[in-house]
Amino acid sequence: MKKIAILGSTGSIGTQTLEVVRENKDIEVLALAAGSNIRLLEKQIREFGPRLAAVWEEESAKELRSLVADLDVEILSGMEGLIRVSVLEETEILVTAIVGMIGIRPTIEAIKAGKDIALANKETLVTAGHIIMPLAKEKNVSVLPVDSEHSAIFQSLRGNGENAVHKILLTASGGPFRGKKQEELLDIRVEDALKHPNWSMGQKITIDSSTMVNKGLEVMEARWLFDVEIDQIQVVIQPQSVIHSMVEYEDGAVMAQLGTPDMKLPIQYALYYPKRRYLKGSRLDFWSLARLDFEKPDMDTFYALSLAYEAGREGGSLPTVFNAANELAVKQFLNREIKYLEITEIIEDCMRAHKNIKNPTLEEILTVEAGVYERIKSRR
Ligand code: NDP
Ligand code: MG
Repeated sequence: MKKIAILGSTGSIGTQTLEVVRENKDIEVLALAAGSNIRLLEKQIREFGPRLAAVWEEESAKELRSLVADLDVEILSGMEGLIRVSVLEETEILVTAIVGMIGIRPTIEAIKAGKDIALANKETLVTAGHIIMPLAKEKNVSVLPVDSEHSAIFQSLRGNGENAVHKILLTASGGPFRGKKQEELLDIRVEDALKHPNWSMGQKITIDSSTMVNKGLEVMEARWLFDVEIDQIQVVIQPQSVIHSMVEYEDGAVMAQLGTPDMKLPIQYALYYPKRRYLKGSRLDFWSLARLDFEKPDMDTFYALSLAYEAGREGGSLPTVFNAANELAVKQFLNREIKYLEITEIIEDCMRAHKNIKNPTLEEILTVEAGVYERIKSRR
């Protein structure tokens, strides 16, 4: 039995991870953490029988404790709960499917405790990759990508020995507004931005995909996972989301991983790496697919992507500013407090106002995050 724990079990990646567990009969779920969806968490506790579960607010923890009073499960709350879920003695792999920078501390603690990480929570690597990757190396811990593009890159690197990567070709669907110009994006509503053409995901990442912030975060995520320079990563629009990403080697050979858009594939690959297992679901049918298209990203309209390249190139605390500004701006957009195009404007404003800190400590990262939030909140 493989023993896992999941941060963010009630979300899009979390529930799909549990589907993978359900299909395979040899994974034991030892601990689960969620934000506030205690109804779903209760169901998950009843089905998967973890010995520990955590929710964010103590109020919700109290409610959950009474809902599962008949079971032998400990219920915790707050950051302490997230960390306990992450470091449980027997866990082998922690799936980080929580959304946002809140995942940094639990991820670091899990690595210190020697857990392998199946990483979906890209915001953590973007902001603290310089702390996490060396720590993982020191602790001999694997950071296995769950993000579909990064899983594709990871798969395309297998079997190529120690050969250096010349270029990473990071594919993007282009999101719901591909082909549109700034003027056409002025009145985008929350409902419009939440319609992704190919993937069904959590709200934050769906908005991020529409602004291309997600691709920007993925450029920085790839930089840490695969130890390449930011400018070795090229974003390629592949509207059908069939090629999940590619690696170009020095002789010009390009390796790619293709498949139907289904997050269960990268999730299962991370959980069983290096073994592949049967996964039910539709297969690519090249006869009906007939063609694949490619485009260059429009970095003028979707300039969040060029801001991400800038943040990634500069490094230090600038990626934290990019990410934290986006996290709060997306929340405000989802609450209908700001307009769509303000998301990227806010990111740029915070980046311009920031004095970069080289090699920030965890405390400095969290202070920068708080400073960015203050700046955004004082905008109006
Ligand atoms: P969702 O919004 O669907 O899920 C987020 C999860 O995090 C939920 O379980 C939520 O709990 C939990 N959560 C939020 N805040 C807290 C908190 N304070 N304490 C504990 N748990 C919390 O997001 P996704 O599954 O879409 O994304 C998760 C991560 O994976 C993100 O970093 C995203 O970028 C990445 N990712 C997602 C992909 C996808 O296909 N969805 C693809 C590639 C990467 P609750 O619902 O109970 O509040
Ligand atoms: Mg992705």
